[in-house]
Amino acid sequence: MQAVFLGLFLLAPLCVLANPATTKSSAQSSPLKQTREIHSQIAPSLKLQQKQAALTLDACSGTFDKDLIQFLIQRRIRATLFVTKRWLVSNPNAVAILQSNLDLFQIENHGENHIPAVIGIGKKVYGIAGHPDSSHLQRELLEGARAIERLVGVKPKWYRAATAIYDNQSIEKIKQLGFNIAGFSVNADAGATLSQAQIERRLARVKNADVIIAHMNQPKRATGKALTVGLWLLLKQDFQFVRLDEVTLVEK
Ligand SMILES: [Zn+2]
Repeated sequence: MQAVFLGLFLLAPLCVLANPATTKSSAQSSPLKQTREIHSQIAPSLKLQQKQAALTLDACSGTFDKDLIQFLIQRRIRATLFVTKRWLVSNPNAVAILQSNLDLFQIENHGENHIPAVIGIGKKVYGIAGHPDSSHLQRELLEGARAIERLVGVKPKWYRAATAIYDNQSIEKIKQLGFNIAGFSVNADAGATLSQAQIERRLARVKNADVIIAHMNQPKRATGKALTVGLWLLLKQDFQFVRLDEVTLVEK
């Protein structure tokens, strides 16, 4: 039933300027042939007592939206954070805050250098070059995972690639390496490019079982402020925010 507005949500590219990512499940055609986004939602549960949504935030490069993270901490909003090695290395203060709040935040893998998960010489997504071969994709995943283990102290199990675009070869390789691909159903900020009003409108349409994607690395853009407004309204509607390690995702 969410197919119609979902399609609208996903028209805008994910994190093209600074980076973004992806997930699992059905798909919408991407600008590249034989590539796709993966669209996921939370699997239904008979035990469910209230509406659920999963908030996922990417940290591609750039800095740290401290106000947004402090809002999540104050409101006890659980979230899954997809971070790159290069973001972790350049934001030690953010790492310290995340480490102190691992009861709220699940830290997952956004790669070593934020390279899209498409394989083949010359292949690009939104102008960003992919991997010349699968060994380069493997390095992107494993070095990203090692950095999280070393700097945060947790072992990631989920992967979301830059731009949220995948080709079939990369999907197979990511699964072979033991990672789940983190899909989404609501593209809240289109790579931190949308206005506050646009993001709030998208969040207002969140429904039970949605997986939201937005960004935590662009404090000068509208995402952080819009999320504090939009997430607060969802809390008032009795939404419960869950992490990906608490639910099962299914492709839409
Ligand atoms: Zn990214």
